[in-house]
Amino acid sequence: MSGALPVLRIAVSACLIGEPVRYDGQEKSCAIVTGGLAALAELVPLCPEVGAGMPVPREAVDLFGDADAPRMVGVVTGEDWTARANAWIVAALDRCEALGVAGFVLKARSPSCGVGTAALYAAPGAEATRTDGLLAGAIRKRFPHLPLVEDEGLDVEAFMAQARSAHEEHLRRRKSPDHR
Ligand code: SF4
Repeated sequence: MSGALPVLRIAVSACLIGEPVRYDGQEKSCAIVTGGLAALAELVPLCPEVGAGMPVPREAVDLFGDADAPRMVGVVTGEDWTARANAWIVAALDRCEALGVAGFVLKARSPSCGVGTAALYAAPGAEATRTDGLLAGAIRKRFPHLPLVEDEGLDVEAFMAQARSAHEEHLRRRKSPDHR
């Protein structure tokens, strides 16, 4: 319909909307996302691990090294997935930008999706500190103006207020004569 406002889109970890993409072949449906958020926005599912080419089910991965540039490594085989995951994330965030995604809700504690809650190890067996997963860290750098939260403790009202404001700003920029 002409004149219809572009839809407000929120990107979410795919496992939170029931996609069975976790390392153990399970999903992690979150009622507040599937019941609350889904009624207010179009959800765009993202799974960086499947996107990187990991199978389902798969060995778990952990983050190692420097918090500014962590490596994602299989806990059994030691296979390094960092480059493949980061390449998929760049392309996925390009798509989010093209879709005008107005915010992100990601799965807590995942080495890909955790927002400040992913475990980071200096070496195998060392005590973990906490950091952003690879996807969360990339979002934080690329879209610092967009709301980025985890499923646990999600306050839909507060999150949507921030997302609506980002969406309106996106629409204003699109209408601006400087927009190309
Ligand atoms: S990478 Fe993210 S979306 Fe994929 S299974 Fe893990 S937490 Fe869910």
